[in-house]
Amino acid sequence: MVHIPCLDNSSIKLVHEFLGLNHEVCGFIVPYKNKLQAIIDDKAKYNTSGYRKYCQLHKYQKYIWHTHPYSSKAYPSLEDIEKTIKHQIIRIQLIFTRWGIWEMAARNAHILDNKVRDNIDLINNELYFGTEKGRITSPSLRHIIDYNYSLNKILGKYGFKIRFTPWNEVQTPHYCLH
Ligand SMILES: [Zn+2]
Repeated sequence: MVHIPCLDNSSIKLVHEFLGLNHEVCGFIVPYKNKLQAIIDDKAKYNTSGYRKYCQLHKYQKYIWHTHPYSSKAYPSLEDIEKTIKHQIIRIQLIFTRWGIWEMAARNAHILDNKVRDNIDLINNELYFGTEKGRITSPSLRHIIDYNYSLNKILGKYGFKIRFTPWNEVQTPHYCLH
């Protein structure tokens, strides 16, 4: 895409502000002046399900992002993980949350069967109950390491990889993709 695949500082600031809203925000990541920039999908749809207000992109691209606001869980949902693997066009999905930045990548497209979906649910539940329902201010490193390890282990065969960078390790003035 570009030589330095890093999100610029203004994008980081922007998404940080979005975390304070009571709904998700979503968009695309595009090249901009030798860096990457997070832009909002101005045609996105906002869906409500229970207490959650989702942001749904009007189309998928290679690099996409969305927020999980402070009021919601600070880790990927089953649907987020599934989406990354299911759609061939999506290569990298970033999720900006209270804890930091989740980066999910997938090389090829697969539909996950129910057994795999159930296993992802189990892994997500473990994090949920270990982190005050996903809303603790900052999780223990052990929880994150276990979570990423478990997901990468069961989903690696689909070319999937998840990484996490806490906010205090997001290098100023940018976040570089892995
Ligand atoms: Zn999500």
